[in-house]
Amino acid sequence: MTASFQPHTVMITGGAGFIGANLVRWLLENVPDVHVVNYDLLTYAGNRESLTGVEARFGGTGDGRYFFVHGDIRDTAAVAAVLAGNARDSIDNRPVSRPDAMLHLAAETHVDRSIAGPAAFVSTNVQGTLSLLEAVKHELDAHPRDFRLINVSTDEVYGSLGNSEASFTEHHPLRPNNPYSASKAGADCLVRAYVETFGLPCITTRCSNNYGPYQFPEKLVPYMITRALADEPLPLYGDGAHVRDWLHVLDHARALWLVCTDGRVEDEVYNIGGNAERTNIGVVREILRVLGKSDSLIEFVPERLGHDRRYATNAARIQERLGWAPAYTFEGGLRETIEWYAANERWWTHVQRKAYRGSNPSLH
Ligand code: NAD
Repeated sequence: MTASFQPHTVMITGGAGFIGANLVRWLLENVPDVHVVNYDLLTYAGNRESLTGVEARFGGTGDGRYFFVHGDIRDTAAVAAVLAGNARDSIDNRPVSRPDAMLHLAAETHVDRSIAGPAAFVSTNVQGTLSLLEAVKHELDAHPRDFRLINVSTDEVYGSLGNSEASFTEHHPLRPNNPYSASKAGADCLVRAYVETFGLPCITTRCSNNYGPYQFPEKLVPYMITRALADEPLPLYGDGAHVRDWLHVLDHARALWLVCTDGRVEDEVYNIGGNAERTNIGVVREILRVLGKSDSLIEFVPERLGHDRRYATNAARIQERLGWAPAYTFEGGLRETIEWYAANERWWTHVQRKAYRGSNPSLH
C-alpha cells in the first residue's frame, strides 16, 4: 500500500511516557528521514531515562532528527510556538523542525490515581486536549497545510462487557465507568467536535491494554513482574477474573504510524487490539511460571471501585482498511517483557524512586 501522507516532522505529546518513548524510538529507527519532536512535561510518568539511547543516536550530538521540548499541553501558546516552528530544543537549544503531524499521547493514565484525585485527569486529559486542538486550529488557520492530529485514546471509553458480549467496535456507545476513562471520553468528544465544527484533520485511535518495556511499574504487568522478581506478594483485585485484551507496545507504535500516514479522517476512529484476551489472574500466573516462582505469592485484595469486568477490542476496521495486524503473540511478548525488566532493574528502581519521593505508592 502506498502511503498517502508522509510527514517530515512529527510532534509527539507524552513522548517520555511508556507508549510515547517506545513510539519515538520505533519511528526514528524504522522511518528513514522522519524528524520527531517530543513534547512532554516530565510528570512522575515521564522519564528522559527511557530515551537515553535515542538522545545519543538521534539528538543534537547524533543525526539531529530528535528534539525534546519540555512543556505542558495545557500551555496553548507554547504548543503553538512548536507548531509554528518557533521553538528551541530544551536540551541543546537547537531550533526545532516545524511539525506537520501530531500524535497526542500525553495524559494522566492511572485509573487508581483517577479515583483518588479526578481533577488532575480532567485538567490534563480534557483541558489539555482542548488546548492542543486550539493550538492546531490557530496554526492551520495561519499556515494552511496538509496535517494530521492523531488522538490516542483507550477502549476503556466504551465501558465494560459481560463475558458473552461481542467485543467493542467503533460504533459502541461511550460508557466510561471511572474518572480516567470519563476524561478520555471527554477528550474524544472534543476531537470529534473540532473535526465536525472546524474541519480539523483529526483521527482518534482506541487501543486495548499495552505491555512491553519502559512501562511505569504501577501498571499490572510491570508491577507484578517487579514484585515477583523481589519475591513480594502480588496483590490482585477481587477474584482476579477481570478480562483485558493485551497489545504489545511495538505493535501499537506500528499501528499509530499507519493511522497517521494512511488513516482516513472520515473513518473518525480506529480500534487497535492485540487479539489476546486474558484474565488478570491468568497473566499473573504466566509471569510466575516464566520466572519459576510459586502461585502462593498471589494475594487477593478487595475489589477496585468501579472496576470494569471485561474489555475486548474488535480491531477489524484497521485490519481490513489499513492492513494492520498484531505481530506479537501475548506469551512471546510477555516473555520478552519479563526478560527486559529482569535485565533493567536500574531503570525501574530509578523511575520508582523519582516518582514516589514523598508520595504514596498506589496499587497497579
Ligand atoms: P504514561 O502515563 O506512561 O505517560 C504519559 C506521558 O504524558 C508522560 O510522559 C507524562 O510526562 C506526559 N504528560 C502528562 N501530563 C502532561 C502535560 N500536561 N503536558 C505534557 N505532557 C504530559 O502513559 P502511556 O501508558 O504511555 O499512555 C499514553 C497514551 O495512551 C495515553 O493517552 C493513554 O490514555 C493511552 N492509552 C494507554 C494504554 C496503556 O495500556 N498504557 C491503553 C489505552 C490507551
